[in-house]
Amino acid sequence: MGMPLIVQKYGGTSVGTAERIKNAARRILETHRNGNSVVAVVSAMSGVTDSLIRMARGITGKPTDREMDALLATGEQTTTALTAIAINSMGGNAVSLTGWQAGIRTNDIHTKAKIHDIVPTAIREHLEKGTIVIVAGFQGHTSSGHITTLGRGGSDLTAIALAAALKADNCEIYTDVDGIFTCDPRIVPAAKKIDVISYDELLEMASSGSKVMQSRSVEFAKKFAIPFEVRNSFNNNRGTLVKEEPVEKVAVRGVSLEKNQAKVTISQVPDRPGSASRLFGVLADTNVVVDVIIQNVNVAESGATDISFTINKDDLEKVGPGLESAAADIGAGKITKRDGIAKLSVVGIGMRTHSGVAAKLFEVLSKGGINIQMISTSEIKIAVIINESCAEEAARLVHKAFLEED
Ligand code: ADP
Ligand code: ASP
Ligand code: MG
Repeated sequence: MGMPLIVQKYGGTSVGTAERIKNAARRILETHRNGNSVVAVVSAMSGVTDSLIRMARGITGKPTDREMDALLATGEQTTTALTAIAINSMGGNAVSLTGWQAGIRTNDIHTKAKIHDIVPTAIREHLEKGTIVIVAGFQGHTSSGHITTLGRGGSDLTAIALAAALKADNCEIYTDVDGIFTCDPRIVPAAKKIDVISYDELLEMASSGSKVMQSRSVEFAKKFAIPFEVRNSFNNNRGTLVKEEPVEKVAVRGVSLEKNQAKVTISQVPDRPGSASRLFGVLADTNVVVDVIIQNVNVAESGATDISFTINKDDLEKVGPGLESAAADIGAGKITKRDGIAKLSVVGIGMRTHSGVAAKLFEVLSKGGINIQMISTSEIKIAVIINESCAEEAARLVHKAFLEED
């Protein structure tokens, strides 16, 4: 048996300044000195990825995707070198690797590439010599040698995928809060740290606005059964363990809020086969991700219905002439768009067996005077579309009703 292998990941805030890089370096070195092989994935220093995006937009509104990847990958490369420099200055022995050097191979969908596989030959060689390996998160390369990135928050995915490829004994995700909370603690100060959560619950939370972990990374962890722990890089508190069930089946594990949504309504859509297919086909062709959809009842036998759907506000500009001409073709009425919309979700695997969660959610919102515009459910989630202006207040009310002891 060789030494235990630990994969750690330090997010943007945890490496946001020279002092914080030294803090991460000390923790990595300590893990190594405790008798472990260590592979540490680092993100770009906080704010760097956003500022690189702004620089590109300062040149053109439509930067090419391949070059965006070449640009954004530099953020993580800077941090890997600085972290290795810090460790070496403390008497340790570390080497920094880009995604390419680490053998992370992806498909060629620039800016949101998927990991194909990992060929960790170089990583293993360094580990065998007792060297600490610092890997650039968020990046990989295609079979034809182009640099790719894995979508925002993608360093989480790098860490989970490396833990899988290296069959690590432990995977630790270090961030700026103590773990996964029952709601974003910045929005609901009464939110509590969750000790253990299932992949399915975290996946629903992450994909409905709790961006503490990239949702694709959680999907990957579930698929390959990689348990991991989310912890704070600034203290030694126990974090949140994420794993397969069984965990205690509470009806509601957490509350998520997704702001920056928009709602589009197409009025007077002829109530016949093919109408929805035509409209949503156009949206799919323009890569607009549609979230909640409702079709109203056929009012007074008029033969037409209204269809509304929500999308990310940033996609609003893509909903234009294409949809209008499709609507005209099928004989539908006018299209209205509005932003200032948010989605609030309650998530818990206990919902599979508990009833009454929806009723209680609607009651809490009604008492708070918050109007529900749309509703959507899955086996372990109930989501409502509300006005963004009252979304944080709604999250606090819903959190209080479901997750705070009285
Ligand atoms: P990192 O840079 O370490 O990847 P992120 O900013 O991506 O960190 O994620 C951590 C942040 O996620 C926290 O600061 C917190 O505000 C936010 N967050 C949102 N929802 C939750 C939640 N349910 N539990 C914990 N943090 C959450
Ligand atoms: N730096 C990238 C981002 O800001 C990746 C990451 O931090 O995980 O999205
Ligand atoms: Mg993150």
